[in-house]
Amino acid sequence: MTDPDNKSSIQLACPDCERELHLPGGCTDLNATAHSCCPGCGFAFETSLESFTGDLPLTKCAICGCEEFYIQKDFNRQLGVIFAVGSLMCVFLLMVLVGHLAGLYCLFALAGIDFLIYWRWKNVTVCYLCTTIYRGFRQQSAHKGFYLGNEEKYKHLRRDWIDTVGGRGDAGVDRNESKTPGLGE
Ligand SMILES: [Zn+2]
Ligand SMILES: [Zn+2]
Repeated sequence: MTDPDNKSSIQLACPDCERELHLPGGCTDLNATAHSCCPGCGFAFETSLESFTGDLPLTKCAICGCEEFYIQKDFNRQLGVIFAVGSLMCVFLLMVLVGHLAGLYCLFALAGIDFLIYWRWKNVTVCYLCTTIYRGFRQQSAHKGFYLGNEEKYKHLRRDWIDTVGGRGDAGVDRNESKTPGLGE
């Protein structure tokens, strides 16, 4: 049933133990429990990841149950900044050593390459509430780019959600207490 070439994966930060998790979507040879809860602390996901394969539309987040997502480029920001700074240094050196025109040509060429890379770069779908990243899933037309208005709304909901799931007792509640600095003491 499941296509072995299907490389869908789910990346999340566990709201309870704060561990960064990379889990494959769909049914794999992995232990079935690793698909319905955090392997580190046992925090239970909203839905098992078994039914989350790239060929099925992504309508509801497996981790928190939220139904709103946004699309973004699967891009490492640090790498992007390094690339941009490196390109500008090349242009600057060319301008100084060879001449202004050569530098300008180089700048246009780099801008063209950047555009092509950006255009061809893969998208990922991100959950507004728990910021879980879904890779290798078919893009839904209902999912748009990141909208700050939504983020403002979800910022508060996210805090509430982390408070709720973090304290509901799937994992150690003791650790939760020790995490909170003693305010009332
Ligand atoms: Zn965890
Ligand atoms: Zn979510």
